[in-house]
Amino acid sequence: MEAVDQKNEAIDTGAGTLSDEQKAARCRQNLAAAVAAVKKALPGMTLLENEPMCAHSSFRIGGPVRALAAPSDVTSLSKLCSILKENHIAPMMLGNGTNILFPDEGLDQLFLISTEKLTKMFLLPDGAIYAEAGVSLSKLASFAQQNGLAGLEFASGIPGTVGGGTIMNAGAYGGELKDAIESVVCLYVPDQALYELTNEQCAFSYRSSLFKKLGGCLVLSAVFRLEKGDGEAIAAKMRELNEKRRAKQPLDLPSAGSAFKRPEGYFAAALIDEAGLKGYTVGGAQVSEKHAGFVVNLGGASSHDVYELMKHVRNTVYREKGVQLEPEIIILPPDYRLEDFGPAVRGNHISINTPPEDANSLPQ
Ligand SMILES: Cc1cc2nc3c(=O)[nH]c(=O)nc-3n(C[C@H](O)[C@H](O)[C@H](O)COP(=O)(O)OP(=O)(O)OC[C@H]3O[C@@H](n4cnc5c(N)ncnc54)[C@H](O)[C@@H]3O)c2cc1C
Repeated sequence: MEAVDQKNEAIDTGAGTLSDEQKAARCRQNLAAAVAAVKKALPGMTLLENEPMCAHSSFRIGGPVRALAAPSDVTSLSKLCSILKENHIAPMMLGNGTNILFPDEGLDQLFLISTEKLTKMFLLPDGAIYAEAGVSLSKLASFAQQNGLAGLEFASGIPGTVGGGTIMNAGAYGGELKDAIESVVCLYVPDQALYELTNEQCAFSYRSSLFKKLGGCLVLSAVFRLEKGDGEAIAAKMRELNEKRRAKQPLDLPSAGSAFKRPEGYFAAALIDEAGLKGYTVGGAQVSEKHAGFVVNLGGASSHDVYELMKHVRNTVYREKGVQLEPEIIILPPDYRLEDFGPAVRGNHISINTPPEDANSLPQ
């Protein structure tokens, strides 16, 4: 990935030194031009405008984004990205939307690319599994099981995709995707080139990866190297872990999984529970009664409810236990970063198309 680091070129938004309002207006113009160009060049591609994100997020929260495209193959995705670049737009990828909080107000400066149609998966001649970004982790785990391959049992209950799971280095019950990924192919938006990265080059860490830190990388596919195993034993392990999950997690209510990362040496859920916050409610958002690590939508929760709830949890745990919790959920837009929580606290940075001062619309 050294090559990518070195080639971290800006997308020139043409924004120069405009005021914030002028930048937003320029961005909207760029988006309108991009949408028109995409419709013309890729007429068969699914392209939704002003699409409400509550329909695409497991939280069931979120207003409309300006555009949501769903290319059905890597060729049309590459073409889409080059049209967006010509129009100074940095897109964001969407997997199953199981780790994101979208704002109620919507994001009129965001172009999302969904991987829902990138679902090819097959065995390679050497026995590894190739899976495109939109394959769900549960289908990947089942496919591995059907082929007598062990090592992805932990992933069968994680509701995300290969793309989202790779970015987040998703994990559970002692396993992480980094333990199974051999290589990843991504499209790097600034130079529009495809890169194949080895596991080591992906720089996976706890719920993070090079892709998450660098930004501008669209994960297209991954190869999984697994151990030969007994199909029945693999299936039994998957059933056991999913049973544990059902017993412990509030799967009957919309959520985005664990709201906070595991702080070193602690468990977020235990800290929240010990701070007396189980069941704490703001509007329609609640610290789950079943699992204090989850924030659930009781029905009609707004993004502000969740945001205020997470802020309260974070403040209280810091006050009571002296530990700073960091959000695991991707909170949009970036100015929702939880900086007002206390020292050195930031949410997950995501690029949207507000042209920054230096006309570089990609995160560094
Ligand atoms: C009930 C529940 C249980 C959960 N349990 C777990 C668990 O046990 N372990 C765990 O780790 N997580 C868990 N999660 C969280 C979530 O499922 C994971 O983080 C998952 O990896 C996110 O995948 P996704 O496809 O939904 O990504 P999204 O939520 O769609 O996106 C997450 C991030 O990845 C980016 N992204 C998505 N696809 C791509 C791509 N192809 N290229 C580049 N960027 C991309 C998005 O832009 C965003 O920044 C749980 C969530 C829920 C709702």
